[in-house]
Amino acid sequence: MKIIKSISHMRKQVLMWKKKGLSVAIVPTMGFFHKGHLSLMRAAGSRADRVVVSLFVNPAQFGPNEDLNRYPRDFERDAKMAEATGVNCLFCPDAKDIYPPGFQTWIRVEELSQGLCGTSRPEHFCGVATIVAKLFIIVQPNMAIFGQKDFQQLQVIRRMVKDLNMPVRIIAHHIVREPDGLALSSRNTYLNVKERESAPALFQALKIAEKMVVRGNLSVPEIIRAVKRHIQSFNNTKIDYVFLGHPESLRPCQKIVGESLLALAVWVGKTRLIDNTLLKPQVNHANRKDKSKDL
Ligand code: AMP
Repeated sequence: MKIIKSISHMRKQVLMWKKKGLSVAIVPTMGFFHKGHLSLMRAAGSRADRVVVSLFVNPAQFGPNEDLNRYPRDFERDAKMAEATGVNCLFCPDAKDIYPPGFQTWIRVEELSQGLCGTSRPEHFCGVATIVAKLFIIVQPNMAIFGQKDFQQLQVIRRMVKDLNMPVRIIAHHIVREPDGLALSSRNTYLNVKERESAPALFQALKIAEKMVVRGNLSVPEIIRAVKRHIQSFNNTKIDYVFLGHPESLRPCQKIVGESLLALAVWVGKTRLIDNTLLKPQVNHANRKDKSKDL
């Protein structure tokens, strides 16, 4: 596996691959790898001839009072894990090269960046869209793999790629979880023992909502109430938001009519966790009224 720090070396490497007709996938990350990251890397390897993993703790996507300085980092461990997973190139540029003095060009995906995580992290998705655009310009990948755990991020990137005619296929990857349902995250390392016990509250709340919908309860206020009640029954939890709405527009809805996104952000102690699921009403529930007419 090659470890590349310089932007120009990265460009040269990709050019060589492209000349040979090889396809390239990128997996953008902030490092401190876990099984979720590795699963994305394997998915990339199964679809493209060459896999680039970017490792960059992007200062632009952290707010002033967020955890940029204490974000977990372990380059040696990450490099070993990526290599063992079959990654061809670990691209780890310096912040001073990505954001040189005088940098002033930002990508803003207007509507999709507001609401959900955008409410408490107003500049976050501008930072995300800008770094991903820069990575796409530097690496020129045929495809990019993103985790569905960061569902709003995925939709922001999809919109950016569409709006800016970027020739990159965006591939969504399922959420990888601990045995008790907690979505894997580099930030889970912040949790102490007691907080770790409360952390599965998010996954359990999503499951409660899924069951309600399968049983035919399509009322958004009732589902949100049940989700909040479950999370609040755990120690050390504070809800940031519970969102239920359209998975593409990310607009909230009053009633579940088709596939809908249930997304959560919850503080567990001082750690903010996110999770989500797509709620799928059964066809027979969605059409119940029509069917009863036929009988
Ligand atoms: P991060 O390093 O946290 O910025 O994440 C890098 C990529 O890994 C993003 O596309 C995330 O959505 C994805 N990712 C993080 N955690 C998980 C997980 N538990 N399951 C699947 N993908 C994940």
